Formats: sequence, C-alpha cells, structure tokens
Amino acid sequence: MSGLLFFDLDDTLLDHAGAEAVAQRETFSAFGTLFGPLPFAEWLAAYRGANALLWAAYGRAEIGREELHRRRFADPLASFGLDAGAAEEIGAAYLERYRRAWRLNDGAAELLAAAAELGEVGILSNGFRELQRAKIARFELERWVRHVVLSEEVGAMKPARAIFDAAVRMACGEEAADGRRKLYLGDQFQTDVLGARAAGWFPVFYNPGRLALPAPAIHVARLMDVIPLLA
Ligand SMILES: [Mg+2]
Repeated sequence: MSGLLFFDLDDTLLDHAGAEAVAQRETFSAFGTLFGPLPFAEWLAAYRGANALLWAAYGRAEIGREELHRRRFADPLASFGLDAGAAEEIGAAYLERYRRAWRLNDGAAELLAAAAELGEVGILSNGFRELQRAKIARFELERWVRHVVLSEEVGAMKPARAIFDAAVRMACGEEAADGRRKLYLGDQFQTDVLGARAAGWFPVFYNPGRLALPAPAIHVARLMDVIPLLA
C-alpha cells in the first residue's frame, strides 16, 4: 500500500507571500491618490497584521469570508484615517493582481513529480476554495495531485484533526489507513506541523527562512530536500 504524501499550498508549493507583496505594491501604486504620503512598508505591515487577525477570527468561525475580504483592507485603511469605503474596490484590484503574480516555489514541480511516483499525492489547504482551485489549475498540478482537501469544503481548518481525517477518508475510503505512511509538508509550525502530528501524520516543516524551531521536528529549507523523505 502506498503512502499518503500531502502538501500545504500557500508558501509551501506556491510563493503566496511573494505574490501578495507584488500585488500589494502594484495596488498601492494604482491607488496612490488615496494612500497619499503613507510609506508602502507601513501599509503592507498593517495589511498583514489585519489579515492575520481576521484569518484567526475566520478560523474560529467568528466572521465569514466576505467580512474577511472587506475588512482586511477596510481595517488598515481606517487605522491610517484613510477612506475605508474604498476597501471593496481596492480588494478587487488586489485580487486581480495577486492572481497574476502567482508562481511555484523552486523545486515544487520536481517534488510533486517524485511524490506521485512513490505514493498518493494530495493538497491540503485552509485557503479559499476558488483561489486554491485556480492555483492548482494554473500550474496543472492535477498531473501529480489526486486529492484536494480544502477547509471550506471539509468544514474544518488546520490544525483541527478533522481536516486531516478527511484527507485520510478521501484517499482510503472505508479501508483502514493503518500501516500506510502519512506525510504532511507545510510552512506553519502550529497549524501544519503540530496539527498533522496530533492527527497521526508524519510532519515535515518547510522552513526556507531557517527559523528557530519551537519544538523538535523534521525540517527542510528547500523543497528538493523533501524528496529523500518521501519513501
Ligand atoms: Mg502555508
């Protein structure tokens, strides 16, 4: 029986933070009259801070996705005393640019190709359904990926065990997964590494920034370095 080899998408296979920064900079320039003399770095930090708080609230089911989409622009705009009424227009302009800025991280295609030779490959992500499906289609990841497990479709977000269990059910059906190796690679220590471990998976931490680990874990700085761990 082949193992389950599952991967996080944003900032693991795909350079989400890079695309976000490019799209934010372009959007900031396009709306220059609105932002005025505010330095871009301050705006980006405020946006990321607001976005992280809102994602946490979304994860606790305290707010819905529409509110998240609107407020991640409206909240930082308001914090600088700028016109929060423009949040929707700016958000739409940002998303269009974000989609154009997507690129895979180095080694992602090679890693997925190697994984598909050795096991059943899946993507398991907390991101928004249309965006994650569009990323998979853009880079034709279906060439290697057989299972796509998305929090919006499962009704649970990482680090909850339910989303990892849903992945096992999707891959194994009613047949027991005992004895099958289950590897999960992700870039967020709490959600990906600790979540996967608590659900009985073998976690690998993708750590390109070589951050200090909060707890012992297998970690790699390059996606290619995961290949020897797959078998
Ligand atoms: Mg990630």
